[in-house]
Amino acid sequence: MQPTIILHTGVGTTPLTDKQKAKKLADLAIEAIDAGYQALESNVDRPALKAVEKTINVLEASGIVNAGVGAVKQSDGIQRRDATIMDGSTLACGAVSSLENVKHTISVARRLMEFTELPGDESKDPKWNFYFCGYYVDKIFEIHGEKVPDEWKMSGKPSMVPRVSDGDTVGAVAIDTRGTIVAGTSTGGLSGSYPGRIGDSPVIGAGTYASCHCGVSNTGRGENVMKLVAAKRVCDLVKLEKINVMIAVDRMIKEYEQTFPNTSGRIGTIAIDKDGNWTAQFNGAAMTWAVKSKGHGFYGQRRDEKIEF
Ligand code: ASP
Repeated sequence: MQPTIILHTGVGTTPLTDKQKAKKLADLAIEAIDAGYQALESNVDRPALKAVEKTINVLEASGIVNAGVGAVKQSDGIQRRDATIMDGSTLACGAVSSLENVKHTISVARRLMEFTELPGDESKDPKWNFYFCGYYVDKIFEIHGEKVPDEWKMSGKPSMVPRVSDGDTVGAVAIDTRGTIVAGTSTGGLSGSYPGRIGDSPVIGAGTYASCHCGVSNTGRGENVMKLVAAKRVCDLVKLEKINVMIAVDRMIKEYEQTFPNTSGRIGTIAIDKDGNWTAQFNGAAMTWAVKSKGHGFYGQRRDEKIEF
């Protein structure tokens, strides 16, 4: 299998409305996909997992997307971040919601995923529990004799944190030489939402899903994405209808439009299937995406745009 990695930095309007920011997003997408591809080609254990984490780490540290440092604020002025990572070869996953002072939300999710893979007594050391919120994340690390590493935490005053517009959630999907597919998504959610609101991004099957057939990361109006269980829907289409991800994502987005005809909320999706096919599709005005496969890189921002880098 040829290793392939794809990312998005959220569905929205930016590349059409703000040329400077569009350029920054394109440069960032290329930097992040290169970093992920390097990990994917390296000799590490679980290269697809490492690649998705690395790619999202670069995006989270940038301050120009709605994840990690640049997460938007809820209506009480506080940033709350959500993330999920899922390994399609085992269905192992880790998910977190409403983290206030963590920059590398995806790394916290990955570590939680690893805790759940530990053998243990279910009643006391709950290996089946993979989704935690806010304050309790520190507790679950403590239970496993660890602390959330300082380099994953925010530094500096929250007021120094840049504010970004809606959209700009980030996600990545990778397949490695063994055919293992991993998907991850990291976000600050929707700007100005009620405190404690959680969207689709950390919800398994909605914003994020990976199986041995397919991996998906979504962006868009989280409430709709959850109602459609959109990421799992794509994977089911690939598995049950034996179609590739290009067709499956196109069908899911059409279903989204039929189900929510009057919504202004949009959806954007990246996906890779077990045969290494990849796709980036959206029904909003724009979505920055980038892919690297067989040493070749492409990115796009507007409809039908595919530029080699
Ligand atoms: N889906 C994210 C949420 O609803 C937002 C986004 O993708 O822009 O939290």
